[in-house]
Amino acid sequence: MKDVIYIKPHHFVDIITSFGAGKVRFEPHPYGHAVHTVAAQILSNRDALLGIELGADDICKPCRHNINGLCGDTIDTSFRPDAPSSKREWNLIIDRRWCERLKIKQGDRLTARRLCERLQNYAGDIMDIYREIPANLTAERVSKLKEGIRNFLSEDNVAA
Ligand code: SF4
Repeated sequence: MKDVIYIKPHHFVDIITSFGAGKVRFEPHPYGHAVHTVAAQILSNRDALLGIELGADDICKPCRHNINGLCGDTIDTSFRPDAPSSKREWNLIIDRRWCERLKIKQGDRLTARRLCERLQNYAGDIMDIYREIPANLTAERVSKLKEGIRNFLSEDNVAA
């Protein structure tokens, strides 16, 4: 197994949020990215060492939209007109906000448990992080994230 899992902050948040929604296994995605394998590593080992990465991370590596380390995908701006259409730019906005909120930065290394504890202690009101997204959509995310944090920090490791 790799020594360090490189991950964007929002990808970690998304995994914990999905975990809070009851997801313990992730299926391969049509994009070919590695969320299913990275999530399995994290959910099976709370002490997995993470490297904070704001560029292409281990999930992006095999993705078909990863063009020489840059995400070439676009996002649906129909319900978030103030967001950039470039997924790379959008991700950077969100990841920088998460970095500020969680007091982390590019290159930091910490275990999945420690990063989840930061979520528990510092996430606060995440409406502001996703301010371009309609509040009702973020509200759904809030309860799942809280549940995911609680479960991740309280349960024994889940078999991958
Ligand atoms: S951020 Fe872009 S390159 Fe990375 S997994 Fe998502 S679509 Fe693929």
